Amino acid sequence: MENIDLHNHSRVSDGLLSPTELVRLAASNGVTTLSLTDHDDVGGLAEARLAAVEAGIVFINGVEISVTWGNHTVHVVGLNIDPTHHVLVEGLLQIRQGRVARAKLIGDELAKVGIAGAFEGALKFAQNPNIIARPHFARYIVEQGHAKNVSQVFKRYLIKGKPGFVRHRWADLSEALHWIRAAQGIPVLAHPGRYEMGKAKMESLLDEFVEFGGLALEVVTSNHNKEEVEIFAQHVRKRNLLASRGSDFHGPGESFCEPGKLPELPYGCKPVWQMWSPPSTH
Ligand code: AMP
Ligand code: MN
Ligand code: MN
Ligand code: MN
Repeated sequence: MENIDLHNHSRVSDGLLSPTELVRLAASNGVTTLSLTDHDDVGGLAEARLAAVEAGIVFINGVEISVTWGNHTVHVVGLNIDPTHHVLVEGLLQIRQGRVARAKLIGDELAKVGIAGAFEGALKFAQNPNIIARPHFARYIVEQGHAKNVSQVFKRYLIKGKPGFVRHRWADLSEALHWIRAAQGIPVLAHPGRYEMGKAKMESLLDEFVEFGGLALEVVTSNHNKEEVEIFAQHVRKRNLLASRGSDFHGPGESFCEPGKLPELPYGCKPVWQMWSPPSTH
């Protein structure tokens, strides 16, 4: 049976497994098509593809781009991208440079509330020094005994309104979509249920996403409850968009949902994977 999971992380961004370990885990969970979608970096794709060949599963190149839309940070996944395309490569490079500067500021803010050495500490947890993300800070803060787990660190220190939160300007929505489209990829709005915005704002986000060439919504993802799955299934049907399915797996013990362990797409949603494997006509 087909089991398609198009949103996963490795140690190239804020995941806990190497690309090879991720692919092996996914394959052993019965995943038949996997995408690695590290934040703002495509450095794990070659390794993951090799491991997928060994494991006998289909591999789709992916990336998850951080975007600033108004006051919100939203994420856009690019699927089936050409990771060598210069427009995408240069765009991602620009985003990564901003991450390092932001991480230093996060370290300064945490020092003010008694958490010393957080920038260096987070760096120690980041395999790729160009992608220092909040989970790396969270792991350091847990290690230092200031909280019992990563999720508690986010609630206490790292989300909007908390002492270690630093506002940051990521890519514009139009830029991120341009980079993905230039690299022949399919832009997917990631985990739309996670954005704290009312209905009218969501409609205008979707309007802009479509206007700039967005093609799919992640309807099934680990942090959507049943109601959210249905809400975004309706958006997809109404706007004639494609639907994606991805666990957003980061690592054992840190994610609620393992690769491939997700519900099916709801009835009437056109799967985004039709784009690279069109349904047979008979
Ligand atoms: P960053 O891109 O550095 O802002 O980090 C964002 C990442 O932090 C997301 O991709 C998730 O992996 C993680 N994250 C965000 N919010 C939470 C949360 N409330 N609890 C646990 N992890 C979170
Ligand atoms: Mn992440
Ligand atoms: Mn995300
Ligand atoms: Mn993700």
